[in-house]
Amino acid sequence: MSSTTTSTITTKAAAAVGLAVETTGPPEPSLMHRSLRSRPVSVQSGSGIYLNLWNGRRVLDGCAGAAVAILGHGHPAVQAAIVEQVAKVSYVHTAKYTTDSAEDLADLILGTRPFGLSKAYFVGSGSEAMDSAMKLARQFHYERGETHRTKWVARRQAYHGNTVGAMSVSSNRARRVPYEDSLLLGGVSFVDPANSYRGQLATETEEQFVERLIKELDEEFRRIGPRSVIAFIAETVGGATGGCVTAPKGYFERVRKLCDEYGILLILDEVMCGSGRTGSYFAFEHEGDVVPDIVTVGKGLGGGYAPIAGIYIHDKVVHALRQGSAAYNHGHTYQAHPVSCAAALATQQVVKSLGLVEACAEKGMILGALLRDRLGEKKYVGDVRGRGLFWAVEFVEDKATKKPLDLSVGFSGRLQQECFDLGLDIYPGQGTVDGIVGDHILLTPPLTITPDQLQSMVDILSNAYDTLEDQLGATS
Ligand SMILES: *Cc1c(COP(=O)(O)O)cnc(C)c1O
Repeated sequence: MSSTTTSTITTKAAAAVGLAVETTGPPEPSLMHRSLRSRPVSVQSGSGIYLNLWNGRRVLDGCAGAAVAILGHGHPAVQAAIVEQVAKVSYVHTAKYTTDSAEDLADLILGTRPFGLSKAYFVGSGSEAMDSAMKLARQFHYERGETHRTKWVARRQAYHGNTVGAMSVSSNRARRVPYEDSLLLGGVSFVDPANSYRGQLATETEEQFVERLIKELDEEFRRIGPRSVIAFIAETVGGATGGCVTAPKGYFERVRKLCDEYGILLILDEVMCGSGRTGSYFAFEHEGDVVPDIVTVGKGLGGGYAPIAGIYIHDKVVHALRQGSAAYNHGHTYQAHPVSCAAALATQQVVKSLGLVEACAEKGMILGALLRDRLGEKKYVGDVRGRGLFWAVEFVEDKATKKPLDLSVGFSGRLQQECFDLGLDIYPGQGTVDGIVGDHILLTPPLTITPDQLQSMVDILSNAYDTLEDQLGATS
């Protein structure tokens, strides 16, 4: 594609030559986009569950960006809260100052000390939250004299972020490879992702599957030496990489027990699945008697109105610090940022006052039923799974053997494009099976979506899928 491409080509033509879609502005943007080959679509405004594009088209945001915009776009109460905070004070340094918006946000979420979580620490992104959690976990052991703990165990097919610490415990291959020998932490090992669709044997019950997973984890702990492990890190519900993977029943309870036996901390990454997304405020509430030592949150916390993420810290960890240095050996210029906290506070207040978490559980049943009903029997649909408004559809070439589609088909990306052409945004994923092959899409709409809108969303998805299936039939 020459750099003189003008902005007048059509969506389909643009897609055909590898451009996402036409946009306005000079031929070569000054902004570094994710790809140098394609340009993202320019959005002029957002309203409710819709995004309004530069060309007047309207798109239903069926993935809330990346499970971020839990209130949809342009919520007036959040806008007002941001403006009000900026008018009062927009920045203070946390070494000396605090603000009501930060204090109130922490109190709103942890004021009742839910599950023994007693402190919140706010940062700017999920990756920073993961790095903060990792540093805190190491500091916990360090202060208690267990300085020999230097290792991490995480799971395959998991994503925890793009900063050096977070990426070190992630297993997203494509993102890791260039940094493997130069930047990433050593001392990280990975166990099975607890994915029933891909991992549970036909000859195995759910209980036996859990038994096998726990045995693998125990063996890994013992191989490393359990007294040298800092923490086990897992997404409570696997997000973008594996596609809304819910754990088999009893898995996390057993994980918790095992970690306790060895004094290993449990860090649950709820950056994507937390903050109400799965129909409970903390995603781990679905997992029985499980309380993490540190929880990370992000995406839904501020609903995208400001960059904000956080960690919630169990009193056990806070207590250890209190007994030791009485300080968290960490800090960021923008931690507990007043405007970000005001945005998140308003977002969480709306979530609370509208009962959106409870509503999410109910709407999730509707969405799950719609997806199973409309897509479950389709030729390339291998699995429909999820919880709350956190759903994925995994696509396969062969339903019986679960053989993934060939990488060259580019199934999930093409489905995304077909949906987009029909006015729906979904979140595609490739590498579902092993980081390379496998296709899925995520449906993670704003929690404010109505049942009728869920219906239209699935209608569009189903039509887009049919178009793609026809195309594949015609070329094979
Ligand atoms: C998105 C995500 C992160 C990283 O968050 P950023 O805000 O992109 O840094 C970490 N963990 C999970 C599970 C995520 O989905």
